[in-house]
Amino acid sequence: MTEKGQPLAYSNIGIGATAKEELLRFLQKKCWKHPVIVCDRNTYEAAGRVLADELKAGGVKAAKLIIPEHEAGAAAADERTLFYTLINIAEETDVIIAAGSGTIHDITRFAAYQRGLPFISFPTAPSVDGFTSAGAPLILNGTKTTIQTKAPIALFADTNLLKDAPRSMTAAGFGDMLGKITSLADWEISRRLADEPYSEAGAKLVKDALWQCIDHRADIAAGTETGIQILMEALIVSGLVMLALDHSRPASGGEHHISHWIEMEMLKTKQPPILHGAKVGCACAVLSDIYKELACHEKLAELPPNFREAIQSAYEGLPDGKTIAGWLTSAGGPACFDEIGVKKDLVCDALNHAHTLRDRYTGLTIINEHAALFAHHLLQ
Ligand SMILES: [Zn+2]
Repeated sequence: MTEKGQPLAYSNIGIGATAKEELLRFLQKKCWKHPVIVCDRNTYEAAGRVLADELKAGGVKAAKLIIPEHEAGAAAADERTLFYTLINIAEETDVIIAAGSGTIHDITRFAAYQRGLPFISFPTAPSVDGFTSAGAPLILNGTKTTIQTKAPIALFADTNLLKDAPRSMTAAGFGDMLGKITSLADWEISRRLADEPYSEAGAKLVKDALWQCIDHRADIAAGTETGIQILMEALIVSGLVMLALDHSRPASGGEHHISHWIEMEMLKTKQPPILHGAKVGCACAVLSDIYKELACHEKLAELPPNFREAIQSAYEGLPDGKTIAGWLTSAGGPACFDEIGVKKDLVCDALNHAHTLRDRYTGLTIINEHAALFAHHLLQ
């Protein structure tokens, strides 16, 4: 169940060429007559306008709310934007539609929660697995803070529009999915060594979704209908598993902690933001090599046998960083931090500190907790 008892039912999810019509029928079924479409300038042109036209043709007149860009050239989910959004949602509004990528969704999620309104997700790029999430990562007082808000009541993803999303966004979605290589391995570790909650079924769903993406990377790179459909479905499965379990372990391990650390440092120094999935993909390639090295490290013998067994079984068989980088490149995305302008010092810093961001056990935690054995050698 999502916030305030509204379930995100599987029947309220549509991915395909008729998503706009499905959204219209959903509004009609719910008797909602005053939707507002929240978007930014780009996503209004790419998707908001055609959606509004479709709704209008079906007798539903939607208001539009275009979120202003910040100096850096993109909308940001910070106090200024959130306040702007809240005061610009008209009194008669009965449902909010997020037409955009991750940030537009986070702004909408927060506004919907504050105003006690349902919201519908209408993603414009297959860029991230967080569309269905209840948590909104916001920038509060210059720091990234995730607060619990609400999940969408429905999601309609139009593959005709998603096909035309910028290639960097699609590649970022693929990067966010590849991150599951290390997050699933870390989840196995947290289950075996820290007794953290685990779900066999959840792990299998996310793993299958991950491998669908790897197997269809050429289609994803080419932006074919099949490729986009597979990537979007994978991202949604990952999001739904997190929603069902009420934690993000299947989809967020050490690679996400590294990405968050880097993001926060770049925010502090006012550097332009990098797409979430781009950072996650690069982090996954780096971390996979570190984990593989850990799994065959000679000092592993000095840890208790259950540690040794768990580490070897979770990490030994991971694909190496070069293979992961190759997959990222084949989908048209960046494959190493150098390519996205993240300095080596910052990556090193993240490897040594990112495990402190969350109270969650990962391979990064193990390496840093046994710094005398591994850290100096592995985390450079
Ligand atoms: Zn992610």
